[in-house]
Amino acid sequence: MKGKIGLEEHFAIEETLLDSAGFVPDSYWEELSHRLIDIHDTRLRLMDQHGMEMMLLSLNAPTVQAIADTRQAEAVATRANDYLAEQVAKRPDRFQGLAALPMQDPDLAARELQRCVKELGFRGVLVNGFSQAGDIDAVYYDLKQYWPFWAEVEKLDVPFYLHPRNPLPHMAPIYDGHPWLLGPTWAFAQETAVHALRLMASGLFDQYPRLAVILGHLGEGLPYNMWRIDNRNAWVKAPPRYPAKKKLCEYFQANFYLTTSGNFRTQTLIDAMLEVGADRILFSTDWPFENVDHAADWFDGTSISEADRLKIGRTNAVALFKLGLPASA
Ligand code: MN
Repeated sequence: MKGKIGLEEHFAIEETLLDSAGFVPDSYWEELSHRLIDIHDTRLRLMDQHGMEMMLLSLNAPTVQAIADTRQAEAVATRANDYLAEQVAKRPDRFQGLAALPMQDPDLAARELQRCVKELGFRGVLVNGFSQAGDIDAVYYDLKQYWPFWAEVEKLDVPFYLHPRNPLPHMAPIYDGHPWLLGPTWAFAQETAVHALRLMASGLFDQYPRLAVILGHLGEGLPYNMWRIDNRNAWVKAPPRYPAKKKLCEYFQANFYLTTSGNFRTQTLIDAMLEVGADRILFSTDWPFENVDHAADWFDGTSISEADRLKIGRTNAVALFKLGLPASA
């Protein structure tokens, strides 16, 4: 399929590059670091070869979210966003930007988001899970201090991509002795799914019903589990023990979008389509941690209708990010 658009596509600046070390064996680091720094060379060539018209670019992980000093986090986010805006300006037909934000301080995050959307022309935001802030271990964005930030996200009418990061070691003893479970194997999905459920259950989407939150990796396992989350012990007639007004699947279906990043499996895609519908699923690769050819070859041939392929591959992204592109390439 020509004209595909991807929205979980990462880059690094020199000062965030080493955050991505350790996710591949040392012998692959030279290749991965090149892939992260490169924007206009290998990346663009692969996009051309595999029918990708555009990438919405975001900073690597965990970077800004893992900087405990708020001012430092703000400085790195600002530099990364300025750099990204320069790169987008060189090829706005092929690249658009998603903002990195210093979520350690919700006011600073809201201000930087405003700057990114209104001055730099970014299309949304991608945040790498919880933030580390001062002496507090992990801060999740369902907490009340973030609600004014969410109000700003809704007002600016831009999507918020909740991207994974690993749990902090002392907060995840279940992985002790099993480092292979960390990262994209399992811990990323677990961490991000729980964060997404916290957002749903908090009542955030009752207060701000137009929020759009994006999850990668075909929903971090949630499509497979949403029915059980809402229906366990259904013979017990007691109200749910969370503040939100509705069943959580209703928020999942109304406020969430899912991407195919790093999860190129037709069975899993079909399950996600049956839970949220083809209008809420968007193609992505997770470059440079996954290959563009692996994503594209799978997606172009996967057994779904051509109408759904066009939506997932392109037109859903055009509409969600207001890209102003025609329906077909
Ligand atoms: Mn990613």
